[in-house]
Amino acid sequence: MSYVGPDFDPPQPRRSLRGPLTVAIAALVPGALAGWLVWQAVDGGGSGGGSDKAGAAPTSASAPNSPRTSASASATDDGKPGASSPAPTPSSSRPAASGPLKGKVVVIDPGHNPHNFQHASEINRKVDIGTNWKECDTTGTSTNAGYTEAQFTLDVARRMRTILEQQGATVKFTQDGDRSWGPCVDERARIGNAAHADAVVSVHADGSAAGNRGFHVILPAAVHAGAADTRPIVTSSRGLGERIAGLFVRETGSAPSNYIGDGTGLVVRKDLGGLNLSTVPKVFIECGNMRDSKDAALLTSGAWRQKAARGISEGIVSFLRG
Ligand code: ZN
Repeated sequence: MSYVGPDFDPPQPRRSLRGPLTVAIAALVPGALAGWLVWQAVDGGGSGGGSDKAGAAPTSASAPNSPRTSASASATDDGKPGASSPAPTPSSSRPAASGPLKGKVVVIDPGHNPHNFQHASEINRKVDIGTNWKECDTTGTSTNAGYTEAQFTLDVARRMRTILEQQGATVKFTQDGDRSWGPCVDERARIGNAAHADAVVSVHADGSAAGNRGFHVILPAAVHAGAADTRPIVTSSRGLGERIAGLFVRETGSAPSNYIGDGTGLVVRKDLGGLNLSTVPKVFIECGNMRDSKDAALLTSGAWRQKAARGISEGIVSFLRG
């Protein structure tokens, strides 16, 4: 694939976040939710239309975006060998001693795996997702220029980890570019369950038709079949998803999807093993459409990914703080 050049973002200024961010988030959440409601009122008909101006208020939660040093040696900012990357942040490998999320466990599930392409037989193996059997994992999509969804998801996830650890959370990954493939979707769910996670977010980007734009958050349907029983987590997961959607709008200025979810940015599904098998609050987010050139321009921008990571993280913080 003809990947076009690294997008090199200069390191962002660092600052001590804990105190100011705590205050900022406390002030931000009501505003963000109000903004979200206003947005829905203005453009709630489901036509979408990708108003990039909606909710584009700047945020005070400017966070560093460095991958941690314990990540795979080959992993870089964009997952490419030799790509320019900000300096690692050794101190980010441990949870903060204090902070509003002290004692909270967040599991981040970076969708797919950069190496799944080389492991077709392994990832095509079927696993039981309760409602039916489904492929262990998939390769994910990519932009037309070859920037893969798996690179995107890992990058956003690492940025989220930095932000959430600074808030005191214990953050675990389902994969960190440190496996040759997978894990399978059932294992991804089990990792969140075993961690007794307070919140789990699976990060993705969509591969839809050009012209289809915007993000959507996927919520678990009430499923009770086989090993799947999402009934205890349906309500809490919706709460998590609504917070993430609202703050994603606020931080990125992106509009909810114009092709799914009737303009709400929320979609309920019962066909995803990662949700069906979860026993803890969990959502997916499709951050944009990699196959649309305008969305792809955002998804391949490190600066935009930082905004996306901030929006998702602040949604988690809002949810966990009640
Ligand atoms: Zn995906």
